[in-house]
Amino acid sequence: MYDDFIRFVRELYQTDKPIPLHEPRFQGREKDYVLDAIDSTFVSSVGPYVDRFEADCARYTGAKYAVATVNGTAALHLALLLAGVKRNEEVITQALTFIATCNAIHYCGAEPIFVDVDKSTLGLSAQALADYLDSCAEYRNGETWNNKTGKRIAACLPMHTFGHPADMPGIMQVCEKYNIPVVEDAAEALGSTLNKQHCGTFGLLGILSFNGNKIMTTGGGGMILTNDPTLAKQAKHLSTTAKEPHSWCVAHDQVGFNYRLPNLNAALGVAQLECVPLFLSKKRELAARYIEWSRQHRFQCVIEPETARSNYWLNAVVLENPAERDAFLTATNEQGVMTRPLWQPMHLLPMYRHCQKDSLAITEWAADRVVNVPSSVIG
Ligand SMILES: *Cc1c(COP(=O)(O)O)cnc(C)c1O
Repeated sequence: MYDDFIRFVRELYQTDKPIPLHEPRFQGREKDYVLDAIDSTFVSSVGPYVDRFEADCARYTGAKYAVATVNGTAALHLALLLAGVKRNEEVITQALTFIATCNAIHYCGAEPIFVDVDKSTLGLSAQALADYLDSCAEYRNGETWNNKTGKRIAACLPMHTFGHPADMPGIMQVCEKYNIPVVEDAAEALGSTLNKQHCGTFGLLGILSFNGNKIMTTGGGGMILTNDPTLAKQAKHLSTTAKEPHSWCVAHDQVGFNYRLPNLNAALGVAQLECVPLFLSKKRELAARYIEWSRQHRFQCVIEPETARSNYWLNAVVLENPAERDAFLTATNEQGVMTRPLWQPMHLLPMYRHCQKDSLAITEWAADRVVNVPSSVIG
């Protein structure tokens, strides 16, 4: 039934072997830089490649500061703490996301509140956010409080799904009205822009991930982006076990974290970031092929929102209903073309089932139908 699709993907990738969803590609100066890091003996959490990778990421994204971390989840955890999220507070986010988004909230001792996503972006809906706050929250003395739980709503955490930018101007407008700091989970969105501004630079803080399946990788790694010099300094400090700067004394001024990115990984990152413009153009070509094929076969693709430029990290198709989705998943995976349903929405997981939520109508619609298809860079 889905043989046409399978044949099309095999033609794209020109192989009879299993086709993964997303594999990394090393065709730049990765080996040169990694060997250089080894030769220098600076393989651990300080070294010139860390500084260079941070500077390169800041330049690339247009953020004033970039602080490297050991992975994207650690970056999210620190970013939320720096935004002021504390124990027994709440953070508004989307249920349509990867588990790391929610876990980072939980690590702070806070609880997520789930509001719906937009159909056009699959990212947090500004309208759903406004509706939730207008009906359930109260703005008092510069802060926003949840009427139902009496808890402070400490932050808002939108996510840029598959690299498609969420409606940041809309989200920022609502959050400014309620004075709620915004932290962007731009883990999937390196190279994605909205009105020419890079994802992760709209809010107070943003984060990137360089996990092995992302558009570029450091093996494991993450980055905190911010324009605020104090927050950047605190991010570095907290990720470095809150060690007081001194040439030989070892003293710490608070409970910090060992969240720094090793120089070895940063060396890989510097080389990979040099390849990102090439990756982006190849991914755009691939997305165009999927979109063209889908039009011809009355198949629906998830495409970049208007006014946005997506990195097209993962392509996605929309099936008619859950039964069609399951048939598609079975047919493709059985024939070695890897496809994957959306993450099970967070409000359905045992750890987050009790959390507050709105109708989540679009979230459930998408979770029932959207499937990711092979998206590795070709050629
Ligand atoms: C990949 C990812 C992260 C962070 O993942 P790490 O593996 O910790 O780098 C966070 N949020 C989303 C939405 C992601 O896709």
